[in-house]
Amino acid sequence: MRANPWETAQAQLQKAAQSLSLDPLLLARLSQPDRVVEVSLPLRMDDGSVRVFSGFRVQHNNIRGPYKGGTRYHLDVDMDEVKALALWMTFKTALIDIPFGGGKGGITVDPKKLSATELERLTREYVRRLAPVIGPNIDVPGPDLNAGSTIMQLIRDEYSLVVGSDTPAVVTGKPLNKGGSEGRTEATGLGGSFALDEILRLRSVSGKGKTVAIQGFGNVGSYLARYLQKAGYKVVAFSDSKSAVFSGKGFNDIDSLEAFKKEHGSFLGYPAAKAIRNDEILTLPVDIVVPAALENAITADVAKQVKASVVLEMANGPTTPEAEEILRANNVMVIPDILANSGGVAVSYFEWSQNMNDERWFKADVFKRLEKKMRAASDAVYRTARERGVTLRDAAYIVAIERLASE
Ligand code: NAD
Repeated sequence: MRANPWETAQAQLQKAAQSLSLDPLLLARLSQPDRVVEVSLPLRMDDGSVRVFSGFRVQHNNIRGPYKGGTRYHLDVDMDEVKALALWMTFKTALIDIPFGGGKGGITVDPKKLSATELERLTREYVRRLAPVIGPNIDVPGPDLNAGSTIMQLIRDEYSLVVGSDTPAVVTGKPLNKGGSEGRTEATGLGGSFALDEILRLRSVSGKGKTVAIQGFGNVGSYLARYLQKAGYKVVAFSDSKSAVFSGKGFNDIDSLEAFKKEHGSFLGYPAAKAIRNDEILTLPVDIVVPAALENAITADVAKQVKASVVLEMANGPTTPEAEEILRANNVMVIPDILANSGGVAVSYFEWSQNMNDERWFKADVFKRLEKKMRAASDAVYRTARERGVTLRDAAYIVAIERLASE
């Protein structure tokens, strides 16, 4: 049975709250979303038939600023998943120290089964339903699984039509020529590489030559791989939903691997790489494993077999609470999702800020600001973990909660 991400998120919050003498009113507020919105989305299909889809938007908390969080198009989307993801956003935005709160949205749909025009009508319907509760100073959606820059531009367009004024800052993750920010595409992967580098540096460990296996080769996994490889790590294994490959020498040309996958539909047959089982990826004998695909990738069963000493959580909620206990007992260091993948929302904030001030920043400037934010958050988490003798995840929650409490 699939672990319930909302229960995972709740367990993490309660555990961190225990070690703080937190005002019960604040804990009560953080334990539930401020507002949940469920919308019905009737859609006329291209063949004339009518189908009804369910859409969600959860506004978890806005103590520090407008709700902020992605929009997910996937068949597994349900209220509990969206609530969990919204809660994680509240802690992520506080931890990376940007003036946003936490939100999340999604539609229960397999977008690959819809035509481009059906997907556009569905998105526009969703935005019309949500228009009264979103806006640049209220709630700012962004991209997530299967909802990229084209969908974000549609959100901007439909919202602007509803309110009668062009409003680029209502959504982030837009295409570059439509108010998007330089560096957003690379941001989450690059941010993860900074977090890993900073934590290892604080432990006086060098990343050079460390072997890495990455589950998921989408936006996050592929950019992380590029930056780790550039920094001297040896990325030796990849998987996606269909295949997995291993190369003892390490993959040195990520662009060519990506081109190969695009052409052949999977990694299988890539020169000098050996096919491995998909479910082996996180239990390979490497130094660092990276779940960068979906939730609940590391269950208790997987955790027992993890041989790496570091787990870099690039996906949201990839480790179940039982798995976390096993990893802790086995001295595996988990760099938690709310730190490791917060580079995406950091650059989303930069995009919003550029839109609000009618500015365009250079990519080098975006990357410099991102590095500063990632290293500062990683330092705060590491220091707190040391001082309190807790895991990096508990420390990340503690840093975030202390910031929320001080507002
Ligand atoms: P994506 O859709 O670009 O890529 C997902 C990848 O995961 C694909 O390569 C897919 O083949 C692979 N995958 C799916 N099921 C798999 C399985 N069972 N085993 C192995 N691989 C599998 O998505 P993304 O943007 O790279 O996001 C990945 C994760 O990172 C998600 O959990 C997302 O919520 C999280 N995240 C993304 C961002 C961002 O900026 N894109 C920011 C924060 C967190």
